[in-house]
Amino acid sequence: MHKKQLKTHNSKFKTILITGGAGFIGSNFIPYFLEKYPNYRIINLDLLTYAGDLENLKEVENHPRYKFIQGNICNRELVEYIFKEFDIQGVIHFAAESHVDNSIKNPGVFVETNVNGTYTLIDVAYKYWMEGPFKYKKRYLKEDMSDELGVMNEEDKNNSKLITHNSKLPKFHHISTDEVYGTLPDDPNILFTEQTPYAPNSPYSASKAASDMIVRSYHHTYGMNTIITNCSNNYGPKQHDEKLIPTIIRNALNENPIPIYGDGKNIRDWLYVLDHCRGIDLAFHKGKAGETYNIGGKNERTNIYIANKICEILDTLQPRKDGKSYKELITFVQDRPGHDRRYAIDASKIERDLGWKAEENFESGIVKTIEWYVKKYNQ
Ligand code: NAD
Repeated sequence: MHKKQLKTHNSKFKTILITGGAGFIGSNFIPYFLEKYPNYRIINLDLLTYAGDLENLKEVENHPRYKFIQGNICNRELVEYIFKEFDIQGVIHFAAESHVDNSIKNPGVFVETNVNGTYTLIDVAYKYWMEGPFKYKKRYLKEDMSDELGVMNEEDKNNSKLITHNSKLPKFHHISTDEVYGTLPDDPNILFTEQTPYAPNSPYSASKAASDMIVRSYHHTYGMNTIITNCSNNYGPKQHDEKLIPTIIRNALNENPIPIYGDGKNIRDWLYVLDHCRGIDLAFHKGKAGETYNIGGKNERTNIYIANKICEILDTLQPRKDGKSYKELITFVQDRPGHDRRYAIDASKIERDLGWKAEENFESGIVKTIEWYVKKYNQ
């Protein structure tokens, strides 16, 4: 596609920069977002590391409001070029190194992409959108300054600095993880809230925590219209082979041992990827500047539960030739160093303030997911 087609200065379209759109969540998000918002054009900036796959975006590759650019979020010159050339008016930042095991082997690239990359992106956005601290460039202020959501209280109205509450101002939305909060004890009453202190335990979560802090500082120091969402473990189609659910399915279908770390009792809170996409959509459009929102599925499951469940479904969907259960392939392997025991999200803030609710329950979501991977791995 010719780049001029997507130029949006003075146009009725808004161009949103999505980073890391060829990864798991981004490639579920882009088709959803393009279909839902006919006035948005999307630039997808993705380096196509081992984790990015354009096959995941086949359905939109020729879409007239979509353009893919292969490049690094740490490349300031490129990011500046994209902002100017396409008049970027919003950022949804997915790009990251995202696999904990890789961060243990090679933490440097996590710091580079997750920390420096986030800094580069937000700093370019700041300079493109704002004149200086708490001052947006004039053209953004010509728009109606009333707040569609009525979130501006009297105190804020009297403080001219807090113009960032205008939901029409360009917004920087940073996608983050519940792993920044560290680990929880096995007590179902204790959940991660937005007030839980950060205590990241792996180089991955530490780099995400650092990037969250950079985004937070651009709101507090410069008045940027930022949002952070911290989500629990996602599952669904298009996830990279290295992650837990695809690994279980692939090994089962190949009759290989299904590796489960430690005693298999580590707990994650699983959310269907499209429910995460809907939460991002709501937070991007209605979230209050400078806020963070936790997103999670109230679906706490141990890893061994997940493995057994997948095996049971596969036993019906594609029975083994010898009639035995896939469960026999489950093998416990040496635990990951520093493996967090339990993550669980309290999503009541996004439910209450923005009206988000998970639509998919785990039982139906996991079947859809398994069917997708069975098709992929049988090809
Ligand atoms: P992913 O690893 O599947 O995809 C990451 C994408 O970023 C890939 O397409 C990759 O090519 C791209 N990328 C990596 N480095 C880049 C760089 N320097 N410049 C440009 N692009 C680069 O990740 P995901 O699972 O889709 O996660 C997306 C975001 O959501 C991440 O920020 C992650 O921390 C966060 N998150 C993920 C989960 C989950 O369960 N997967 C849960 C909560 C939050």
